[in-house]
Amino acid sequence: NKQIRIGIVGYGNLGRGTVEAIKKSADMELIAIFTRRSPESLKIDEANVEVVHISKVEDYQEKIDVMILCGGSATDLPEQGPELAKLFNTIDSYDTHAKIPEYFSSVDAVAKESGKISIISVGWDPGLFSINRLMAEAIIPQGENYTFWGKGLSQGHSDAVRRVNGVKDGVQYTIPADAAIEKVRSGVNPELTTAEKHRRVCYIVAEEGADQAKIENEIKTMPNYFADYDTEVNFITEEVLKAEHSAAPHGGFVIRGGETGADQNKQIIEFSLKLGSNPEFTASVLVAYARAAYRLHKEGQAGAKTVFDVPPIYLSPRSAEDLRRDLL
Ligand code: NDP
Repeated sequence: NKQIRIGIVGYGNLGRGTVEAIKKSADMELIAIFTRRSPESLKIDEANVEVVHISKVEDYQEKIDVMILCGGSATDLPEQGPELAKLFNTIDSYDTHAKIPEYFSSVDAVAKESGKISIISVGWDPGLFSINRLMAEAIIPQGENYTFWGKGLSQGHSDAVRRVNGVKDGVQYTIPADAAIEKVRSGVNPELTTAEKHRRVCYIVAEEGADQAKIENEIKTMPNYFADYDTEVNFITEEVLKAEHSAAPHGGFVIRGGETGADQNKQIIEFSLKLGSNPEFTASVLVAYARAAYRLHKEGQAGAKTVFDVPPIYLSPRSAEDLRRDLL
């Protein structure tokens, strides 16, 4: 019953999470992992899974039903997305929000031509959060959407603190501001700046002899990244960093406050995620949408899609009858 044959392109955090998510899906089989690096260098020990250089990907067209693209959004996917949509049904987690329309068009043109399905920007944001923003707005047209992120490790901000002079290592968490969330939950639909919605907390390992006050000041005044935020800087040891800050938690809230009826009754819709591992969760979403891509392709559909275009029933391995009985 493992009828859906999967390939993975790119073996980073998301690639590793995808290997695990496929193991939890009885209707799927992982055929191969493709990489731009030397396949031997990855040290992947998965029974019956081939590790292949990306240059040989064309040879797998008949062996793989859906390719899950696990490359980065900044430079990998803009190239790999359209390239692979020529050959395979694809799923990706492209998350540069401002450029999604452009990315959609470039993948759509190729996928329509090749007759494949490409579901782009799948994950939690964009992804599950997007669906919730759409549903909330469609149901309560008179209202306001709010998205809060965290508590979560932010890769970009962690890179930024690590570039500060005297910093040996460090991480940054984005944390939703409680006061802002409570205001939104109360239904007053406040105007909030990005800085009012989130705080930033850094855990820093300083180099020996480094001036901690100087590091703290440099971080807190860093334009764009920290200057506009309530930023907290904590100094810790390398051991503590390793022990307490190696996981990649994340999550957040999508909240809509609105009103209905002549009496302007308040209606609040809230969806939240608390993720112990961002890449493992995102990978789990990708794998569910791989099932949908397989089915849409079987129906003869082609072109780029987003989470907005995919009916929920296509995500589940269970029959429509089962789902109506148990989950409706
Ligand atoms: P990584 O940096 O871990 O991996 C990206 C690519 O880099 C891999 O596909 C791999 O390609 C290459 N790579 C990985 N490790 C190494 C290494 N040690 N040396 C050299 N190259 C390496 O990124 P993530 O997996 O953490 O994230 C991928 C994307 O997922 C992010 O850019 C983000 O856009 C997206 N994302 C989306 C979410 C959503 O909700 N929509 C949520 C979370 C993430 P190769 O094997 O070919 O070398």
